[in-house]
Amino acid sequence: MLQVDKKICTDIDTESYHGAASVPVYQTSLFTFPTFREFTEAQKKEREQYVYTRGVNPTVNVLEYKLASLERGEQCKCFGSGMGAISSIFLSLLQNGDHVIFMNHIYGPTKELAGLLEKFGITSVFIENDPKELEAAIQPETKMIYTESPGTMLMKVLDLQDTAAIAKRHNITSVIDNTWSTPLFQKPLTLGFDITVHSLTKYIGGHSDLVGGAVIGRADMIDHIFKDGFQLGGSVLSPHDAYLVLRGLRTLPVRLEQHETNASHIVDYLRTKQAVKQVHHPSLYTDSAPFLSEQMLGFSGLISFELEEGGFENVSRFIDSLDLFKIGVSWGGFESLVTSPLKDDNAEQLKAGGLPPDLIRLSVGLEGYEMQIQDLEQAFSTIS
Ligand SMILES: *Cc1c(COP(=O)(O)O)cnc(C)c1O
Repeated sequence: MLQVDKKICTDIDTESYHGAASVPVYQTSLFTFPTFREFTEAQKKEREQYVYTRGVNPTVNVLEYKLASLERGEQCKCFGSGMGAISSIFLSLLQNGDHVIFMNHIYGPTKELAGLLEKFGITSVFIENDPKELEAAIQPETKMIYTESPGTMLMKVLDLQDTAAIAKRHNITSVIDNTWSTPLFQKPLTLGFDITVHSLTKYIGGHSDLVGGAVIGRADMIDHIFKDGFQLGGSVLSPHDAYLVLRGLRTLPVRLEQHETNASHIVDYLRTKQAVKQVHHPSLYTDSAPFLSEQMLGFSGLISFELEEGGFENVSRFIDSLDLFKIGVSWGGFESLVTSPLKDDNAEQLKAGGLPPDLIRLSVGLEGYEMQIQDLEQAFSTIS
Protein backbone atom coordinates (compact mmCIF):
# COMPACT_ATOMS: atom_id res chain seq x y z
CA MET A 1 0.00 0.00 0.00
CA LEU A 2 1.01 3.57 -0.40
CA GLN A 3 2.08 4.68 3.04
CA VAL A 4 0.90 8.22 2.54
CA ASP A 5 -1.39 8.58 5.45
CA LYS A 6 -2.45 5.35 7.02
CA LYS A 7 -5.49 6.87 8.64
CA ILE A 8 -6.82 8.27 5.40
CA CYS A 9 -6.08 5.05 3.56
CA THR A 10 -8.14 2.86 5.82
CA ASP A 11 -11.48 3.76 4.34
CA ILE A 12 -13.80 6.07 6.20
CA ASP A 13 -11.77 7.23 9.14
CA THR A 14 -14.38 9.40 10.75
CA GLU A 15 -11.79 11.08 12.98
CA SER A 16 -9.84 12.65 10.11
CA TYR A 17 -13.08 13.50 8.30
CA HIS A 18 -14.91 15.20 11.19
CA GLY A 19 -17.38 12.32 11.28
CA ALA A 20 -18.30 12.54 7.58
CA ALA A 21 -19.98 9.35 6.35
CA SER A 22 -18.45 9.59 2.87
CA VAL A 23 -14.94 10.40 1.66
CA PRO A 24 -14.30 14.16 1.20
CA VAL A 25 -13.31 15.35 -2.26
CA TYR A 26 -9.86 16.94 -2.01
CA GLN A 27 -10.39 19.12 -5.06
CA THR A 28 -6.90 20.58 -5.09
CA SER A 29 -4.01 20.46 -7.54
CA LEU A 30 -1.29 21.08 -4.93
CA PHE A 31 -0.53 20.87 -1.21
CA THR A 32 1.29 23.61 0.72
CA PHE A 33 3.89 23.27 3.51
CA PRO A 34 4.67 25.22 6.67
CA THR A 35 8.44 25.37 6.02
CA PHE A 36 10.71 25.17 2.99
CA ARG A 37 12.61 22.27 4.58
CA GLU A 38 9.43 20.20 4.94
CA PHE A 39 8.54 21.06 1.34
CA THR A 40 11.91 19.88 0.01
CA GLU A 41 11.73 16.70 2.10
CA ALA A 42 8.25 15.93 0.73
CA GLN A 43 9.46 16.52 -2.83
CA LYS A 44 11.99 13.73 -2.36
CA LYS A 45 9.05 11.38 -1.73
CA GLU A 46 6.50 12.68 -4.20
CA ARG A 47 4.95 9.24 -4.68
CA GLU A 48 4.33 8.84 -0.96
CA GLN A 49 3.41 12.33 0.17
CA TYR A 50 0.78 14.83 -0.81
CA VAL A 51 2.66 17.36 -2.97
CA TYR A 52 0.81 17.57 -6.28
CA THR A 53 -2.31 15.78 -7.60
CA ARG A 54 -0.30 14.39 -10.56
CA GLY A 55 1.22 12.31 -7.77
CA VAL A 56 -0.99 11.38 -4.82
CA ASN A 57 -4.27 12.94 -3.78
CA PRO A 58 -6.13 11.87 -0.61
CA THR A 59 -9.47 11.10 -2.31
CA VAL A 60 -7.83 9.16 -5.14
CA ASN A 61 -5.65 7.43 -2.56
CA VAL A 62 -8.65 5.99 -0.69
CA LEU A 63 -9.89 4.54 -3.97
CA GLU A 64 -6.44 3.08 -4.71
CA TYR A 65 -6.35 1.46 -1.28
CA LYS A 66 -9.78 -0.09 -1.78
CA LEU A 67 -9.09 -1.40 -5.30
CA ALA A 68 -5.77 -2.92 -4.18
CA SER A 69 -7.57 -4.66 -1.30
CA LEU A 70 -10.35 -5.99 -3.53
CA GLU A 71 -7.87 -7.40 -6.08
CA ARG A 72 -5.59 -8.77 -3.31
CA GLY A 73 -2.74 -6.68 -4.71
CA GLU A 74 -0.05 -4.80 -2.81
CA GLN A 75 -0.58 -1.48 -4.52
CA CYS A 76 -2.86 0.33 -6.97
CA LYS A 77 -2.50 3.44 -9.10
CA CYS A 78 -5.54 5.11 -10.64
CA PHE A 79 -5.59 6.84 -14.03
CA GLY A 80 -7.77 9.23 -16.00
CA SER A 81 -9.00 6.38 -18.24
CA GLY A 82 -8.60 2.67 -18.84
CA MET A 83 -6.46 3.44 -21.89
CA GLY A 84 -4.34 5.81 -19.76
CA ALA A 85 -3.69 2.87 -17.43
CA ILE A 86 -2.95 0.42 -20.27
CA SER A 87 -0.61 2.76 -22.17
CA SER A 88 1.24 3.54 -18.92
CA ILE A 89 1.94 -0.16 -18.37
CA PHE A 90 3.51 -0.44 -21.84
CA LEU A 91 5.37 2.89 -21.59
CA SER A 92 6.82 1.96 -18.20
CA LEU A 93 7.66 -1.73 -18.56
CA LEU A 94 8.67 -2.15 -22.21
CA GLN A 95 11.58 -0.93 -24.30
CA ASN A 96 12.97 -1.04 -27.81
CA GLY A 97 13.57 -4.65 -28.90
CA ASP A 98 10.94 -6.18 -26.61
CA HIS A 99 8.18 -8.51 -27.80
CA VAL A 100 4.63 -8.76 -26.42
CA ILE A 101 2.14 -11.61 -26.79
CA PHE A 102 -1.50 -10.51 -26.84
CA MET A 103 -3.80 -13.37 -26.00
CA ASN A 104 -7.56 -13.88 -26.47
CA HIS A 105 -9.65 -11.18 -28.20
CA ILE A 106 -8.24 -7.83 -27.09
CA TYR A 107 -10.14 -4.54 -26.74
CA GLY A 108 -9.88 -2.61 -30.04
CA PRO A 109 -7.97 0.48 -28.89
CA THR A 110 -5.48 -1.72 -26.99
CA LYS A 111 -4.89 -3.57 -30.25
CA GLU A 112 -4.30 -0.26 -32.04
CA LEU A 113 -1.89 0.75 -29.30
CA ALA A 114 0.06 -2.46 -29.95
CA GLY A 115 0.45 -1.24 -33.54
CA LEU A 116 1.69 2.14 -32.34
CA LEU A 117 4.33 0.44 -30.16
CA GLU A 118 6.05 -0.82 -33.32
CA LYS A 119 7.17 2.75 -33.92
CA PHE A 120 9.30 2.37 -30.77
CA GLY A 121 10.71 -1.00 -31.82
CA ILE A 122 8.33 -3.07 -29.70
CA THR A 123 6.85 -5.95 -31.68
CA SER A 124 3.84 -8.08 -30.86
CA VAL A 125 1.82 -11.10 -31.90
CA PHE A 126 -1.88 -11.90 -31.37
CA ILE A 127 -2.90 -15.43 -30.45
CA GLU A 128 -6.11 -17.19 -29.42
CA ASN A 129 -6.91 -18.56 -25.98
CA ASP A 130 -4.93 -21.80 -25.98
CA PRO A 131 -2.00 -21.98 -23.52
CA LYS A 132 -0.24 -24.43 -25.91
CA GLU A 133 -0.26 -21.73 -28.55
CA LEU A 134 1.31 -19.45 -25.97
CA GLU A 135 4.32 -21.73 -25.41
CA ALA A 136 4.91 -21.77 -29.16
CA ALA A 137 4.69 -17.98 -29.49
CA ILE A 138 7.29 -17.18 -26.81
CA GLN A 139 10.55 -15.73 -28.15
CA PRO A 140 13.74 -14.82 -26.28
CA GLU A 141 12.65 -11.15 -26.57
CA THR A 142 9.15 -11.75 -25.13
CA LYS A 143 8.81 -9.52 -22.07
CA MET A 144 5.05 -9.40 -21.58
CA ILE A 145 1.92 -11.49 -21.99
CA TYR A 146 -1.20 -9.35 -22.12
CA THR A 147 -4.69 -10.80 -22.06
CA GLU A 148 -8.38 -10.30 -21.38
CA SER A 149 -10.65 -13.01 -20.02
CA PRO A 150 -13.51 -12.93 -20.71
CA GLY A 151 -13.10 -10.89 -23.87
CA THR A 152 -15.69 -8.21 -24.51
CA MET A 153 -17.00 -9.23 -27.94
CA LEU A 154 -17.22 -13.04 -28.02
CA MET A 155 -16.72 -13.33 -24.24
CA LYS A 156 -14.11 -16.07 -24.75
CA VAL A 157 -12.25 -17.24 -21.68
CA LEU A 158 -8.71 -18.32 -20.90
CA ASP A 159 -7.25 -20.61 -18.24
CA LEU A 160 -5.60 -17.91 -16.15
CA GLN A 161 -3.69 -20.19 -13.79
CA ASP A 162 -2.10 -22.07 -16.70
CA THR A 163 -1.27 -18.86 -18.55
CA ALA A 164 0.31 -17.22 -15.50
CA ALA A 165 2.35 -20.36 -14.78
CA ILE A 166 3.76 -20.40 -18.33
CA ALA A 167 4.64 -16.70 -18.08
CA LYS A 168 6.37 -17.25 -14.74
CA ARG A 169 8.37 -20.21 -16.05
CA HIS A 170 9.73 -18.00 -18.85
CA ASN A 171 10.25 -14.99 -16.59
CA ILE A 172 7.72 -12.92 -18.54
CA THR A 173 5.48 -10.26 -16.97
CA SER A 174 1.80 -11.25 -17.15
CA VAL A 175 -0.89 -8.59 -17.42
CA ILE A 176 -4.67 -9.01 -17.59
CA ASP A 177 -7.43 -6.54 -18.33
CA ASN A 178 -10.00 -7.61 -15.70
CA THR A 179 -12.69 -5.06 -16.62
CA TRP A 180 -15.31 -7.67 -17.62
CA SER A 181 -15.39 -9.35 -14.21
CA THR A 182 -14.34 -6.62 -11.78
CA PRO A 183 -12.33 -7.84 -8.76
CA LEU A 184 -15.56 -9.18 -7.25
CA PHE A 185 -16.01 -11.88 -9.89
CA GLN A 186 -12.34 -12.66 -10.67
CA LYS A 187 -9.04 -12.10 -8.83
CA PRO A 188 -6.25 -12.86 -11.32
CA LEU A 189 -3.42 -11.87 -8.93
CA THR A 190 -4.37 -14.83 -6.73
CA LEU A 191 -4.02 -17.07 -9.83
CA GLY A 192 -0.46 -15.92 -10.49
CA PHE A 193 -0.84 -12.84 -12.68
CA ASP A 194 1.59 -9.95 -12.04
CA ILE A 195 -0.65 -7.03 -12.97
CA THR A 196 -4.37 -6.42 -13.44
CA VAL A 197 -5.74 -3.38 -15.21
CA HIS A 198 -9.27 -1.96 -15.16
CA SER A 199 -11.39 0.52 -16.98
CA LEU A 200 -13.25 2.09 -14.04
CA THR A 201 -15.62 3.49 -16.65
CA LYS A 202 -17.58 0.22 -16.80
CA TYR A 203 -19.04 -1.73 -13.82
CA ILE A 204 -16.81 -0.29 -11.11
CA GLY A 205 -17.92 3.30 -11.78
CA GLY A 206 -21.21 1.78 -12.81
CA HIS A 207 -23.25 4.88 -13.68
CA SER A 208 -21.91 6.01 -17.10
CA ASP A 209 -20.87 9.33 -15.58
CA LEU A 210 -17.06 9.15 -15.54
CA VAL A 211 -13.98 7.78 -17.33
CA GLY A 212 -11.18 6.21 -15.28
CA GLY A 213 -8.64 3.40 -15.03
CA ALA A 214 -6.55 1.49 -12.50
CA VAL A 215 -3.46 -0.72 -12.39
CA ILE A 216 -2.92 -3.15 -9.50
CA GLY A 217 -0.05 -5.45 -8.60
CA ARG A 218 3.20 -5.85 -6.67
CA ALA A 219 4.42 -2.64 -5.03
CA ASP A 220 7.72 -2.43 -6.98
CA MET A 221 5.96 -2.82 -10.35
CA ILE A 222 3.20 -0.32 -9.55
CA ASP A 223 5.76 2.15 -8.23
CA HIS A 224 7.65 1.89 -11.52
CA ILE A 225 4.40 2.49 -13.49
CA PHE A 226 3.57 5.38 -11.13
CA LYS A 227 6.97 7.03 -11.66
CA ASP A 228 7.14 6.68 -15.45
CA GLY A 229 3.75 6.05 -17.02
CA PHE A 230 1.61 7.98 -14.56
CA GLN A 231 3.70 10.98 -13.57
CA LEU A 232 5.19 11.54 -17.02
CA GLY A 233 2.24 10.25 -19.07
CA GLY A 234 -0.02 12.47 -16.97
CA SER A 235 -3.30 10.54 -17.21
CA VAL A 236 -4.65 11.80 -13.87
CA LEU A 237 -7.98 10.73 -12.35
CA SER A 238 -9.68 13.85 -11.01
CA PRO A 239 -10.47 13.79 -7.27
CA HIS A 240 -14.14 14.33 -8.05
CA ASP A 241 -14.23 11.35 -10.43
CA ALA A 242 -12.41 9.28 -7.79
CA TYR A 243 -15.22 10.21 -5.41
CA LEU A 244 -17.79 9.02 -7.95
CA VAL A 245 -15.93 5.71 -8.34
CA LEU A 246 -15.85 5.31 -4.54
CA ARG A 247 -19.58 5.91 -4.52
CA GLY A 248 -20.00 3.33 -7.29
CA LEU A 249 -17.90 0.79 -5.36
CA ARG A 250 -20.31 0.95 -2.42
CA THR A 251 -23.06 -0.66 -4.49
CA LEU A 252 -20.88 -2.83 -6.76
CA PRO A 253 -21.82 -6.13 -5.05
CA VAL A 254 -25.59 -5.54 -5.28
CA ARG A 255 -25.38 -4.10 -8.79
CA LEU A 256 -23.32 -7.03 -10.07
CA GLU A 257 -25.70 -9.50 -8.50
CA GLN A 258 -28.62 -7.88 -10.35
CA HIS A 259 -26.68 -7.61 -13.64
CA GLU A 260 -25.95 -11.33 -13.29
CA THR A 261 -29.58 -12.24 -12.61
CA ASN A 262 -30.87 -10.13 -15.52
CA ALA A 263 -28.19 -11.49 -17.86
CA SER A 264 -28.98 -15.08 -16.98
CA HIS A 265 -32.67 -14.56 -17.83
CA ILE A 266 -31.73 -12.89 -21.12
CA VAL A 267 -29.26 -15.63 -22.06
CA ASP A 268 -32.00 -18.22 -21.46
CA TYR A 269 -34.47 -16.17 -23.49
CA LEU A 270 -32.09 -15.61 -26.44
CA ARG A 271 -31.38 -19.34 -26.63
CA THR A 272 -35.08 -19.99 -27.32
CA LYS A 273 -35.18 -17.61 -30.32
CA GLN A 274 -35.18 -19.10 -33.81
CA ALA A 275 -33.68 -15.90 -35.20
CA VAL A 276 -30.57 -16.33 -33.01
CA LYS A 277 -27.74 -18.46 -34.36
CA GLN A 278 -25.52 -18.40 -31.29
CA VAL A 279 -25.33 -16.73 -27.89
CA HIS A 280 -21.97 -15.77 -26.36
CA HIS A 281 -21.67 -15.53 -22.58
CA PRO A 282 -19.16 -17.21 -20.21
CA SER A 283 -21.99 -18.81 -18.24
CA LEU A 284 -22.44 -21.08 -21.28
CA TYR A 285 -18.81 -22.27 -21.26
CA THR A 286 -18.66 -24.01 -17.89
CA ASP A 287 -18.65 -27.47 -19.53
CA SER A 288 -16.09 -26.71 -22.23
CA ALA A 289 -13.91 -24.72 -19.80
CA PRO A 290 -14.07 -26.57 -16.44
CA PHE A 291 -11.43 -24.25 -14.92
CA LEU A 292 -14.08 -21.50 -14.90
CA SER A 293 -15.77 -22.89 -11.80
CA GLU A 294 -12.68 -21.96 -9.75
CA GLN A 295 -11.58 -18.96 -11.78
CA MET A 296 -14.78 -16.91 -11.86
CA LEU A 297 -17.14 -16.20 -8.98
CA GLY A 298 -19.91 -14.85 -11.18
CA PHE A 299 -20.87 -13.68 -14.67
CA SER A 300 -21.73 -10.07 -15.39
CA GLY A 301 -24.14 -8.62 -17.92
CA LEU A 302 -22.22 -8.32 -21.16
CA ILE A 303 -23.71 -10.68 -23.76
CA SER A 304 -23.40 -11.03 -27.51
CA PHE A 305 -25.33 -13.08 -30.05
CA GLU A 306 -25.38 -13.74 -33.77
CA LEU A 307 -28.44 -13.38 -35.94
CA GLU A 308 -29.38 -16.31 -38.16
CA GLU A 309 -30.33 -13.89 -40.96
CA GLY A 310 -27.68 -11.19 -40.79
CA GLY A 311 -26.51 -8.38 -43.00
CA PHE A 312 -26.39 -4.67 -42.27
CA GLU A 313 -30.10 -4.14 -43.05
CA ASN A 314 -31.32 -6.82 -40.65
CA VAL A 315 -28.88 -5.89 -37.89
CA SER A 316 -29.91 -2.22 -38.25
CA ARG A 317 -33.60 -3.04 -38.21
CA PHE A 318 -33.23 -5.10 -35.05
CA ILE A 319 -31.14 -2.48 -33.24
CA ASP A 320 -33.33 0.45 -34.35
CA SER A 321 -36.43 -1.39 -33.13
CA LEU A 322 -35.12 -1.57 -29.58
CA ASP A 323 -36.39 1.10 -27.26
CA LEU A 324 -35.17 0.34 -23.73
CA PHE A 325 -31.75 -0.79 -25.02
CA LYS A 326 -30.08 2.44 -26.16
CA ILE A 327 -27.54 2.50 -29.01
CA GLY A 328 -24.08 3.37 -27.77
CA VAL A 329 -20.51 2.37 -26.93
CA SER A 330 -19.23 1.34 -23.52
CA TRP A 331 -21.10 -0.78 -20.96
CA GLY A 332 -21.55 -1.55 -17.27
CA GLY A 333 -23.92 1.26 -16.30
CA PHE A 334 -27.52 1.32 -15.13
CA GLU A 335 -29.00 1.59 -18.60
CA SER A 336 -29.16 -1.29 -21.07
CA LEU A 337 -27.12 -0.69 -24.22
CA VAL A 338 -26.85 -2.30 -27.63
CA THR A 339 -24.12 -2.12 -30.25
CA SER A 340 -22.56 -4.13 -33.08
CA PRO A 341 -19.09 -4.08 -34.63
CA LEU A 342 -20.82 -4.16 -38.04
CA LYS A 343 -20.80 -1.18 -40.42
CA ASP A 344 -22.18 -1.07 -43.97
CA ASP A 345 -18.74 -1.84 -45.44
CA ASN A 346 -16.71 -3.94 -42.96
CA ALA A 347 -18.25 -7.45 -42.94
CA GLU A 348 -15.23 -9.06 -44.64
CA GLN A 349 -12.81 -7.20 -42.42
CA LEU A 350 -14.62 -8.44 -39.31
CA LYS A 351 -14.53 -12.02 -40.53
CA ALA A 352 -10.80 -11.73 -41.22
CA GLY A 353 -10.34 -10.48 -37.66
CA GLY A 354 -12.21 -13.49 -36.24
CA LEU A 355 -15.52 -11.77 -35.51
CA PRO A 356 -18.85 -12.90 -36.94
CA PRO A 357 -20.22 -9.84 -38.79
CA ASP A 358 -23.80 -10.31 -37.60
CA LEU A 359 -22.85 -9.94 -33.95
CA ILE A 360 -25.02 -7.87 -31.64
CA ARG A 361 -23.73 -6.95 -28.19
CA LEU A 362 -25.95 -6.16 -25.23
CA SER A 363 -24.91 -4.52 -22.00
CA VAL A 364 -27.73 -5.80 -19.82
CA GLY A 365 -28.58 -3.01 -17.40
CA LEU A 366 -30.52 -2.87 -14.17
CA GLU A 367 -34.02 -2.04 -15.43
CA GLY A 368 -35.60 -5.41 -14.67
CA TYR A 369 -35.42 -8.41 -16.94
CA GLU A 370 -39.12 -8.59 -17.80
CA MET A 371 -38.92 -5.15 -19.39
CA GLN A 372 -35.66 -5.99 -21.11
CA ILE A 373 -37.06 -9.21 -22.58
CA GLN A 374 -40.22 -7.43 -23.70
CA ASP A 375 -38.07 -4.92 -25.58
CA LEU A 376 -36.03 -7.68 -27.24
CA GLU A 377 -39.20 -9.59 -28.11
CA GLN A 378 -40.74 -6.67 -29.99
CA ALA A 379 -37.42 -6.08 -31.85
CA PHE A 380 -37.27 -9.76 -32.91
CA SER A 381 -40.83 -9.46 -34.24
CA THR A 382 -39.61 -6.85 -36.78
CA ILE A 383 -37.05 -9.17 -38.38
CA SER A 384 -38.89 -12.47 -38.55
C1 LIG B 1 -13.56 0.34 -22.10
C2 LIG B 1 -12.46 -0.63 -22.00
C3 LIG B 1 -11.13 -0.20 -21.91
C4 LIG B 1 -10.73 1.23 -22.02
O1 LIG B 1 -11.18 1.99 -20.95
P1 LIG B 1 -11.47 3.57 -21.06
O2 LIG B 1 -11.83 3.90 -19.65
O3 LIG B 1 -12.59 3.73 -22.05
O4 LIG B 1 -10.21 4.22 -21.53
C5 LIG B 1 -10.15 -1.17 -21.76
N1 LIG B 1 -10.46 -2.48 -21.73
C6 LIG B 1 -11.73 -2.92 -21.83
C7 LIG B 1 -11.99 -4.37 -21.77
C8 LIG B 1 -12.76 -2.01 -21.97
O5 LIG B 1 -14.02 -2.45 -22.09
